[in-house]
Amino acid sequence: MQTLPVAVTANVARIRARTPNTIMAVVKADGYGHGAVTVAKAAVAAGAGWLGTTSVAEASALRAAGLAVPILAWLHPGGIDAEAAAAARVDVAVGSVDELGALVARAASAVRVHLYMDTGMSRGGCSRGQWDELIGLAQRGQQARRLRVVGVMGHLPLADRADPAANAAAVAGMREAQRAVRTAGFGSTVAHLAATSGTLTDPATHFGMVRVGAGLVGIDPSGTVEMHGASRLTAPIVHTTAAPAGTPVGYAGTYVTDRATHLSVLPVGYADGIPREISPQAGVEIGGRRLPVVGRVSMDQIVIDTGAESVPVGTSATVFGPDGGATPTIHDWARWAGTIPHTIVTGIGPRVKRSIT
Ligand SMILES: *Cc1c(COP(=O)(O)O)cnc(C)c1O
Repeated sequence: MQTLPVAVTANVARIRARTPNTIMAVVKADGYGHGAVTVAKAAVAAGAGWLGTTSVAEASALRAAGLAVPILAWLHPGGIDAEAAAAARVDVAVGSVDELGALVARAASAVRVHLYMDTGMSRGGCSRGQWDELIGLAQRGQQARRLRVVGVMGHLPLADRADPAANAAAVAGMREAQRAVRTAGFGSTVAHLAATSGTLTDPATHFGMVRVGAGLVGIDPSGTVEMHGASRLTAPIVHTTAAPAGTPVGYAGTYVTDRATHLSVLPVGYADGIPREISPQAGVEIGGRRLPVVGRVSMDQIVIDTGAESVPVGTSATVFGPDGGATPTIHDWARWAGTIPHTIVTGIGPRVKRSIT
């Protein structure tokens, strides 16, 4: 059976096989639902040289857990907490002139900054028309010893297509940003653009470092490399009943048994991250068999049609896991719900008990 650290280690090895560059392990959203500290420790032990989070607070929590490698945080909705960043030695990505201006005004000591340039996403990063202004402001901030520019960052909008041609414009933009930052004379900086898909499918996107999140926990958004699943969701059967043909199941009776059968209830529902909208193919593994989820997904429960077999209360069902065979994967759930596996793993609710095996 695959344990979480073993899976992360194997996934870092897959990434390493595709790039000689520094690997930043991205552990935002609590390590994509798997536990940020656990994933971070496993990834660093396996050779990741950096960590990435969205917020400075998440990064500080990793420091408090004893992680010593450089950490970058790139989303600062309430403004950059320069004091916290300096105290925890956290690098911050800065993606606008306003944000950088506020940082320069507030920073008491030199904060390590990565200039975040928009390379085609129109979601984060400084728009191209303002790169010169951003760089000029950063130069003045560095001269005043309020900050030190140590990196330049972009993001790929189309890497999931696994087609290098789709990344060409962003790669050209990144090269341009890298040149502009070099010309400004900040000294040595690390450039980084690619996430999991770019890392696995397009070496031209690797620059000095790659930022890998999904890949660590078994997701390749480009669909080209089989990664190791890192999590398992199980639930015990809490109720079993025999049902004659014609029995409606769950809210609104959307499913009606078409034969005499048995029904078992699992104590997990949409509050725990089971998608409410799923196709009739959705199922779980019980006793080595794939059995269908029937009727509406409730907040706290789902019902499984176990057919001729009456499965005893207490029997464990696997909702998803890395095993293959009858056990659904997070990719299966994503397909059944019309979504991506990221939303399955990050959607697991707080009352689901986590353990690391
Ligand atoms: C989430 C994120 C990543 C990691 O992306 P994956 O596809 O999960 O590897 C990299 N960079 C940024 C800016 C991100 O927000």
